[in-house]
Amino acid sequence: MYLMKCSQEDGFIAEGQLNPYGNLELSPASGALNYGQGIFEGMKVFRRDDGRIFLFRPDQNAQRLKIGAERMCMPSPSVSQFIDAVKQTAIANKRWIPPPGKGSLYIRPLLLGSGPILGVSPSLEYMFVIYASPVGYYFKEGSSPLNLCVEEEFDRASRGGTGGIKTISNYGPALRPLIQAKSKGFSDVLYLDSVNGKYIEEVSSCNIFIVKGNTISTPPVKGTILPGVTRKSVMEIARNLGYNVEERLIPVSELLEADEVFGTGTAVVVAPVGTITYRGKRIEYRTGENSVSKRLSSTYVAIQNGLIEDKNGWMVEIN
Ligand SMILES: *Cc1c(COP(=O)(O)O)cnc(C)c1O
Repeated sequence: MYLMKCSQEDGFIAEGQLNPYGNLELSPASGALNYGQGIFEGMKVFRRDDGRIFLFRPDQNAQRLKIGAERMCMPSPSVSQFIDAVKQTAIANKRWIPPPGKGSLYIRPLLLGSGPILGVSPSLEYMFVIYASPVGYYFKEGSSPLNLCVEEEFDRASRGGTGGIKTISNYGPALRPLIQAKSKGFSDVLYLDSVNGKYIEEVSSCNIFIVKGNTISTPPVKGTILPGVTRKSVMEIARNLGYNVEERLIPVSELLEADEVFGTGTAVVVAPVGTITYRGKRIEYRTGENSVSKRLSSTYVAIQNGLIEDKNGWMVEIN
């Protein structure tokens, strides 16, 4: 794992180091442990048939970390420090990158307020940590479609809150609704906006899209929705394939008319949604070989695996 430390005053000026994977040493009074002053990222490393290894748009994660750090009053590594650190971690863990088609190496950067701070104030010391783990498919069903339920009891994010950044405190409160939905046989929940309880926002850990005819729509990222790198990339791929792509408010009632629904995220890539249950009514969607989501997912995966040309320069080789 990679570790870089700094003071709030100086920011990340000193070099970081690779260390054997193990526990971190941080103050029991740290800002991260006590007040949730921390953010994370998630990205993947891919191995190709010729043995070369690649990252997918690491600059996007680096920039998102910077934006999140600003919101949480933390210094952050520069874009080049971030990418360099991720590359070092990937190389050090090269033997853990699964063979092509079997999965990928998931990389988890963490930026933490590590210094003691009992009063409510930004920590004076910070840690940037990166660890990695091989992963296969995120959802248990593998690539079989998700069964979602619309969540009306709990909200994920509120206006002016931190739903738009990857803070370490976002998932804790999402566990209760997730466990509850799973106990009823659903794969995950679909959250609505907290102001009106009317517009769809996202799933616990992935963004949401609906397909109607030739039009693909997704809610706009205005603070309560995480601006996913996969979301952004899928929109570009869809436009290049000739679909009409819209970012707009989507009332939950539109779920009744959609042809398809799918989720996007680094972990799930493009995940087809087979059904959504809303107020006891189960709506079914097209999935499978002739679906738009399948076409988008195949194109996405083919770019990541180097099987079709990477016209946008998204793939970054690690030497
Ligand atoms: C990370 C995350 C996503 C997906 O973002 P990607 O950059 O595509 O991986 C979506 N929603 C939430 C809440 C997330 O934390």
